[in-house]
Amino acid sequence: MSFSFNFFNPVRINFGTDSLQEAGKIARKYGTNALIVTGKSSMQKFGVLDKLTCILQKSGVNSIVFSDITPNPTVGEIDMAAKVARTNHVDLIIGLGGGSPLDSSKAVAVAAKDNISVWDYLKREPKSALPVITIVSTSGTGSEVNRFSVMTNTKTGEKPGFGYECMYPKESIIDPVIMQSMPKYVTATTGFDVFVHSLEAYTGSLSNPIADSYCEKAFTLLKESLVTAYNEPENIKARSDMAAASALAGLAIDSAGVGIIHALEHPVSGNFPNIAHGAGLAALTVESMKLNINNKTTKEKYARVAHIFGKIKGNKTEEDMAYELLETVKKILTVLNLNVSLKDLKVNEAQLEKIAKEAFTTMNFAVLNNPVQIDENNALKLLKDSFK
Ligand code: NDP
Ligand code: MN
Repeated sequence: MSFSFNFFNPVRINFGTDSLQEAGKIARKYGTNALIVTGKSSMQKFGVLDKLTCILQKSGVNSIVFSDITPNPTVGEIDMAAKVARTNHVDLIIGLGGGSPLDSSKAVAVAAKDNISVWDYLKREPKSALPVITIVSTSGTGSEVNRFSVMTNTKTGEKPGFGYECMYPKESIIDPVIMQSMPKYVTATTGFDVFVHSLEAYTGSLSNPIADSYCEKAFTLLKESLVTAYNEPENIKARSDMAAASALAGLAIDSAGVGIIHALEHPVSGNFPNIAHGAGLAALTVESMKLNINNKTTKEKYARVAHIFGKIKGNKTEEDMAYELLETVKKILTVLNLNVSLKDLKVNEAQLEKIAKEAFTTMNFAVLNNPVQIDENNALKLLKDSFK
């Protein structure tokens, strides 16, 4: 098969234990007045925010803090942070936290340059953005290294993702020490997000040799360290492996995209914002894989992933191997305590039709990238099968 693809990623990655210490030097390259965009409690509780503001100060970078970003961030929160950025004439945005603050930091960097709601960028490409540095605290979304931002419209429940070239962070600081404080549930949900990014980028229509190689390495790291990071929160090697896997998968989706699991999960956590993104993915993955497994190329790729996860081919057919991956995924979900249905997650069954529709209106690029063509009927069936 011949390939045609486009690969671009300009984010400088500063990876390593205690790389947070470099934040001042890095930030100083881009500005002297920073807005730190973070969540409500974890980075304060574990002292990372205080450490960061001190490190910045020592390098001559003043900072103000916006700490009202909630998990599954809303348009209102982002608009408010952008207003703070404009009012204070900041020249740099630093995202600190998990995918929610990091996604928000990229959206704020764009909206700070205009005087419109961030929602309007779904239709209008921004001309430019303030420089962004991401300092990541979860190992999941890959937001630290890609251009995407996801936001929820609380009036409608819509949760689209968007990303333009000017939204790439300038630099990312990936310090596994920060991840050691993740509670088990956050480790599980974010870690499973890495798996789904790798799987969807690896099998989607936009898959390409460069993204594939990133996914394969991410799978290897997941196999070695996802469960260990879950069971041993302070195991720095496991945290480091998962941080690298998150970045690899984040780079992979930046070029190869996501698929139906993400297309359906966004309206799930958009309409039910108490659901963690990774938990929504967990509820949808097995049924989505069952649907995609019938595609010949997917089958080949699932078989390869099963091999990376230690399954021996022997006399087995490719189909057998592909189904072994399905079993492996079920086991991982069980070990991570994520064997959940949409019902368990308290999704209201009456909303499934709305959720199915919104996958096509807010995440159509992901629907189109799925290896098997999906229409509203089989999307709804998939949701119903994932509800039981
Ligand atoms: P969040 O950023 O929402 O964080 C989840 C929870 O974990 C929060 O309560 C947070 O606390 C806490 N937390 C984060 N880091 C730590 C830590 N080191 N120690 C203790 N607690 C911690 O989680 P995700 O990273 O999963 O981000 C999810 C968001 O990212 C969703 O909106 C999702 O749709 C989006 N996403 C973006 C992608 C992209 O490509 N850009 C791809 C996939 C998903 P606190 O609230 O105090 O910060
Ligand atoms: Mn995701």
